[in-house]
Amino acid sequence: MRTAIVSAMHEELSAVLALMPDERKQQVAGRDFWAGHLHGQDVVAVLSRIGKVAAATTATALIERFEVDRIVFTGVAGGLAAGVDRGDVVVADAFLQHDLDASPIFPKYEVPLYGIARFATDAALTRELDAAVRKALPGTTLHRGLVVSGDRFVSTTIECRALQLALPDALAVEMEGAAIAQVCRDYGVPFAAVRTISDRADDEAHGDFVTFIREVASRHSAAIVEALLRAG
Ligand code: SAH
Repeated sequence: MRTAIVSAMHEELSAVLALMPDERKQQVAGRDFWAGHLHGQDVVAVLSRIGKVAAATTATALIERFEVDRIVFTGVAGGLAAGVDRGDVVVADAFLQHDLDASPIFPKYEVPLYGIARFATDAALTRELDAAVRKALPGTTLHRGLVVSGDRFVSTTIECRALQLALPDALAVEMEGAAIAQVCRDYGVPFAAVRTISDRADDEAHGDFVTFIREVASRHSAAIVEALLRAG
């Protein structure tokens, strides 16, 4: 069983690499893939880069070139739903591209020719990830549900409000998950994702984003990944 650990930010990837005693770098498509072990398990860790296309390329390379059996994403996201606050953690049940709209030919958000807008994450892997979060971060508020992705850092209250109105059950917004979910569906590879809330996707979102990644999100990622792989 080979697990891919995908991070969006350098700080998170470094925290995961610090747990791998024997990682070796291989370059594919201009990306550095780190193959090795974590708690004795076969792991490939990589930076997705930011945005849907970059994430899709990374997921495709992981599947085609590194033959991973499952993909786990760890990163940060903006909170959308009420009560999804900075420092909380969201485990995704499904992903949707909030900036995809081929209407009127297809319903808004539907991915043409797939017949769906929402791509479910793998139920069993998501359960494992949920359990790992509870074990690694016992005091943290954990949410489960829909996460939406788009090629935009949502950082105005106006845009945040529009997303809340259009997609009232969306817990959080980020820029990669839905792309990886679609690639994983194409290949039949299990996918699960966890995001620490770094901001509320509003006028204050830029704030101390970088400090938050360094001080909170990267520690979260490493602790969750460690608990997941230790559990088997
Ligand atoms: N502006 C930031 C980085 C922007 S990219 C900087 O200066 O470094 C933000 C990354 O975090 C993406 O990988 C995305 O998935 C996630 N993210 C966090 N909050 C987000 C938000 N409010 N909107 C969209 N993506 C967000």
